[in-house]
Amino acid sequence: MIVTLKPGSDVAAAKSRLAGLGLWIDSVERSALGEVHLVVGRASTRVESATIEGLPEVLAVSQSGNNRPRMEAQGPRVEVRAGLAIDGAEPVLMAGPCSVESESQIHRIARKVRASGARLLRGGAFKPRTSPYDFQGYGKDAATWLRSAADAEGLAVVTEVMSEADVPLISNVADMLQVGSRNMQNFALLKAVGRAGRPVLLKRSMSATVDEWLHAGEYLLVHGASGVVFCERGIRGFDPSTRNLLDLGAVALIAKVFGMPVVVDPSHAAGRRDLVIPLAKAALAAGAAGLLIEVHDEPENAKSDGAQSVMPQALLGLGFVNEVQS
Ligand code: PEP
Ligand code: MN
Repeated sequence: MIVTLKPGSDVAAAKSRLAGLGLWIDSVERSALGEVHLVVGRASTRVESATIEGLPEVLAVSQSGNNRPRMEAQGPRVEVRAGLAIDGAEPVLMAGPCSVESESQIHRIARKVRASGARLLRGGAFKPRTSPYDFQGYGKDAATWLRSAADAEGLAVVTEVMSEADVPLISNVADMLQVGSRNMQNFALLKAVGRAGRPVLLKRSMSATVDEWLHAGEYLLVHGASGVVFCERGIRGFDPSTRNLLDLGAVALIAKVFGMPVVVDPSHAAGRRDLVIPLAKAALAAGAAGLLIEVHDEPENAKSDGAQSVMPQALLGLGFVNEVQS
């Protein structure tokens, strides 16, 4: 069990109170931010978390001893902005192109995804591409176009931040900062993104275990993120028939057993448009609190990921709206 203390509280007093309850401290750990964690090694009796949480020095308790108390304390709800939360009650649709390609493209697609029930507009301004010769994104200009297109439609913005240097820029335009798969364990980036104090969409690395993924979330929270939503986007399998292997077992585990917010990106999982809507439905059935879907109105001309981008009208198959809202 890990007991995290409130900042500035008296460690000796907390230890003696815990000893009074029959809990023996093995070690005292200090995080980089000065947070104090008491690691409880032995207990003379079973003590409910609520009793420990009631002690004046205690901020949070992790019963499982898995060393991610902040993630456990967060619970299933993350507020993206006022009036918009990802909490599992109503699934939240995040949709938009893989890359923001022009001001007119993002405005057109924003209008269409909003009409299909999206609440967040996605789109990459800075793109993590396997080849340095591929389109890298229009950067700052794209970020500005994305924000104005979202504002025009009353949508929130989620977009990827690839480097520590870009955290201020992306924090200015995005309601939710996306950490991409390739950066899930870029700890310097996680710390910088955390310090922005914003909600984060944390994509699973294509080779990360669930435990590594949850620990990456813990980094973000320890460094100040206001909330972490996990995004499963497919892991590396052995079979190239689909781009990645969508791990819905992990989604059900995180949503239903761990009680944490998790959404699914069926687009990068499938790599092909015809599988996106079926996988999206399966994700919601497994407990996903939302979906992140790549949408393009001219996918054959897309600068990235056209093959997996669905047409805007395909979103209607998910039933977020009964009919197109104009
Ligand atoms: C994306 O969502 O734009 C993206 C690059 O996805 P991933 O990091 O999952 O590959
Ligand atoms: Mn993409």
